[in-house]
Amino acid sequence: MFDNLTEKFDTVFKKLRGRGRLSEENIKDALREVRLVLLEADVNFRVVKDFIAAVRDRALGQDVLKSLTPAQQVIKIVREELARLMGEGEANALDLAARPPVPVMLCGLQGAGKTTTCGKLALSLRRQKRNPLLVPADIYRPAAIEQLKTVGRQINVEVFDSQPGQDPVKICEAARAYAELNGFDTLILDTAGRLHIDSELMQELVRIRDSLEPREILFVADAMTGQDAVNVAESFNQVLDISGVILTKLDGDARGGAALSIRAVTGKPIKLVGMGEKLDALEVFHPDRMAQRILGMGDVLSLIEKAQSVVETEDAARMEAQLRKDGFTLETFRDQLQMIKKMGSMEGLLKMIPGAGKAMKQMKGMQPPDQEMKKIEAIINSMTRRERHDHRILNGSRRQRIARGSGTTVQDVNQLIKRFSEAQKMMKKMQKMGPKGLKGMMRG
Ligand code: GDP
Repeated sequence: MFDNLTEKFDTVFKKLRGRGRLSEENIKDALREVRLVLLEADVNFRVVKDFIAAVRDRALGQDVLKSLTPAQQVIKIVREELARLMGEGEANALDLAARPPVPVMLCGLQGAGKTTTCGKLALSLRRQKRNPLLVPADIYRPAAIEQLKTVGRQINVEVFDSQPGQDPVKICEAARAYAELNGFDTLILDTAGRLHIDSELMQELVRIRDSLEPREILFVADAMTGQDAVNVAESFNQVLDISGVILTKLDGDARGGAALSIRAVTGKPIKLVGMGEKLDALEVFHPDRMAQRILGMGDVLSLIEKAQSVVETEDAARMEAQLRKDGFTLETFRDQLQMIKKMGSMEGLLKMIPGAGKAMKQMKGMQPPDQEMKKIEAIINSMTRRERHDHRILNGSRRQRIARGSGTTVQDVNQLIKRFSEAQKMMKKMQKMGPKGLKGMMRG
């Protein structure tokens, strides 16, 4: 995410840090470079202008120039102003406090990720113990209704039964009545999208809004389309008075323009972000954490939350029981790998650790961790159950068979087994020591 932007900020800041004292001219030079970096990332030029003015006013204050670490102070100001640009200090959680069923309307252009995001939102609400009903209100593309039904099946959330050709307002009203009768507390309305803004469509969305009075009207914006997304968001906002934005495809190589401009241009907060095609790839948007990520400072808080949400699943409990029963074997090791994979790509995770993104770039030629993980999994999958439970029986011919089966080499297999048996020895030692011994070891 925003790799290019992060890299360029890094270059500007490195220059700044390289000097001991800073003159006004040094700061002005750096800000000129920051301005270019932002424009190249497709940030709206008025937004850039205001941003630079705000940073300049604060950075040229005497306190900064006289401080012992002027470069750090400037970087801190940039971070704070970036966060403010994205809405720092505003509430960005969905407001669903109303008499159920609470309607939430998603709108946006075709291909922005509306239907996928409806599914992600439903899954996330269910994890928060709500009971959502998905409502397909795009009656122009029969495939759209089918797509939402498929999404609903994947996450086990009911999809209201609508037919192509029905009036979308009638569908939404019928869905509300159905939800009242059947105990659904949230309606997620998947509205129609077009390739371009179109007044007929807008009127239809207005009719849905006026009839259902959604608690949230969320514009779904594709981050990859940069300023176009910002302009379209503003058009939707003018007609519909949206309550917030969901920015999708932030996992791709978006340049950052949409994320950095949309709040300032529309005055509406980014509430959620899509971080992948999978239905659990939806995150709450935190402007301060995003600013840190953009500046390559990592995002440890999000990493911890992510780990917690995965660890809270039933899988974790099941795995713990398995570990207790079988000990640390290749099979439990594979389960652990799969759990880590659920948290997203290893590379994505590593980037949340401060400095790790940069460190990874420097390790050129190294196998990317995700591919390494896939290889390990393939090798373990090619083993029989017995072999997974006791790797000591893996003789030469077994190793050859496993290498063939997993499309790897015998060296790969040997290396994995060697590393695994070292890890196993260490686990055994740690178990013997118990929690007290472990603490002693950490202190030492
Ligand atoms: P709609 O036309 O607005 O309903 O868009 P869809 O939900 O059909 O999504 C269009 C495409 O974008 C699909 O291929 C989705 O898998 C993909 N997509 C949606 N959200 C994300 C995201 O956050 N990241 C990535 N990488 N792809 C996404």
